[in-house]
Amino acid sequence: MNYFLFLNHPKGKEVYKVSKEREEMLKEHFSRVDILETEVVMRGIKYKALVDYSAFSNLANFDCFKCQDPCCADNPTVYEKITRDFVLENIESYNKKTKNIDILLESGYEVEDIIKSIKEDECMVPNETVEAEISLCTCSFKPNNESVLCSLHSICLEKNMSAKEIVEKKPLVCSLWPIDIISEEDKSLLYITVPDDFTTGFTIEDYYDTPCINKELAQSSSFRRKNPIGFLEDEYVPIILAYGETLKYSLGEKFYNDVKEKLVEENLIFVEELIIKEKQIFKK
Ligand code: SF4
Ligand code: SF4
Repeated sequence: MNYFLFLNHPKGKEVYKVSKEREEMLKEHFSRVDILETEVVMRGIKYKALVDYSAFSNLANFDCFKCQDPCCADNPTVYEKITRDFVLENIESYNKKTKNIDILLESGYEVEDIIKSIKEDECMVPNETVEAEISLCTCSFKPNNESVLCSLHSICLEKNMSAKEIVEKKPLVCSLWPIDIISEEDKSLLYITVPDDFTTGFTIEDYYDTPCINKELAQSSSFRRKNPIGFLEDEYVPIILAYGETLKYSLGEKFYNDVKEKLVEENLIFVEELIIKEKQIFKK
């Protein structure tokens, strides 16, 4: 089995392969909890999926502007053409935020090499500079030497782009993070869940380190000393609402509607909550 969203990770199998032990934990979990069978559509391709739907009623607050625990620590994927074209179309804003072009010019690269690199190299900078020059994801930036933000997402917001457009321009793994999708080797079936107390043993991300889906962590004194303003208790809402638009455009309307209806049917979320408009994609 593989961590589906990491299949295009620059480090390959070392990252995306699920160990036998984790595979067994996942199978055990999915045999024990209530499951929804549905269909997802990602980048135009349909997949059959089993969804651990109750996890989508877990509370989340994606308060990225105020988060001091950046999750953009690694290049998550070999970038798609749509992202490369977007960077080239917005090269000035991209450089103003990330300084990637300036850094490479100062390191002796020619402009033509830098453009070629954005078009062809896995992480949009020359391969030999990925670890040496930039320890965070090459698209990340620090607006104030504190928070770490995504330059792609920020440029989209500056251009007043819709949630659908944001999801199209950013890597899918980033839009959906930290939702976990694990696939059978041949992709004939996907298993979809969220890191929490029950799944964190087999999900690729660690629930206990992730404030946006762990309200208790976000309220702890040690965490609040680093994040005194953000992560207000009242701003935690069920993931299906916090990530409503993201889920709709990343995994398809059918997935979103099926999970939402199931959660309402089982009183895991309430109809009144559905009037909360999805805003959190515009907070990143
Ligand atoms: S997604 Fe979560 S961990 Fe990452 S920056 Fe946003 S709030 Fe912080
Ligand atoms: S959200 Fe943006 S900055 Fe963060 S890992 Fe993804 S592409 Fe990089």
